Amino acid sequence: MLEGKIALITGAGRGIGRAIAAALAEAGAEVALLDAGRPEEVQESAAQIAALGRKAKAYLCDVGDYWRSKECVEQVIGDFGGVDILVNNAGITRDALLLSMKPEDFAEVLDVNLKGAFNLCKHLCGHFIKKRGGRIINISSVSGISGNAGQSNYSASKAGLIGLTKSLARELASRNITVNAIAPGFIETEMTAKLPEKAREALLTQIPLKRAGKPEDVAALAVFLASDSAAYITGEVIKMDGGLCI
Ligand code: NAP
Repeated sequence: MLEGKIALITGAGRGIGRAIAAALAEAGAEVALLDAGRPEEVQESAAQIAALGRKAKAYLCDVGDYWRSKECVEQVIGDFGGVDILVNNAGITRDALLLSMKPEDFAEVLDVNLKGAFNLCKHLCGHFIKKRGGRIINISSVSGISGNAGQSNYSASKAGLIGLTKSLARELASRNITVNAIAPGFIETEMTAKLPEKAREALLTQIPLKRAGKPEDVAALAVFLASDSAAYITGEVIKMDGGLCI
């Protein structure tokens, strides 16, 4: 389905990003996996994909760093010969109620979750425009749609990502570049493993499908959005939340 395509996925060392990289590779794409802090995790993800016979390479890149992400995009284009699919998945939380939230925690979350996506889009857009084609998939969150107490920084970053998605979809449509967002609900990863047991149980009771999602659920949607079948979808925000925010 994605044979001959090259995908760049940020935050691909573990969790949803790793599952997206694996699913895109399974669908035929070659994959560049970017991650920031844990080199062994992202190397291992790339090695597992490469073992299946698909080209995969790991890169260390803090997406919030404008110049490093530029350098990294250039490295990927040099190594793979181009990029067709960008998945902005890297994300962090620094949860606290506003009264106790430190300004640096607000800034850091915006830097990674929103500015990180801006950086990668900015560095790859020219390449996509020249090729007259490309797919951008931004991993937002239902918190960016409904808000969430204790996550004003995270929710603001994810709502910002939706605005970025819709604006870029309008800017780039004439060049055959689609830009969409996925808004996951509660997905079992290291990020949600930090939640206290009581909060997890309370959240589960609110999910009509009565279970947390799996990274593979989100990955399947990313593969669809990257495929030819989704060529006429742009500027959309698709929830993947088991009905949490119906
Ligand atoms: P995760 O398990 O914590 O993984 C996040 C990944 O992002 C890690 O590999 C992490 O690597 C990387 N990362 C963090 N900061 C980075 C930076 N500055 N530059 C590059 N990579 C960076 O989280 P996840 O649950 O898979 O979440 C993936 C995405 O889905 C995030 O954007 C998250 O907001 C979104 N999401 C998740 C859920 C959920 O329920 N899990 C729900 C809605 C949305 P290092 O730590 O090694 O840097």
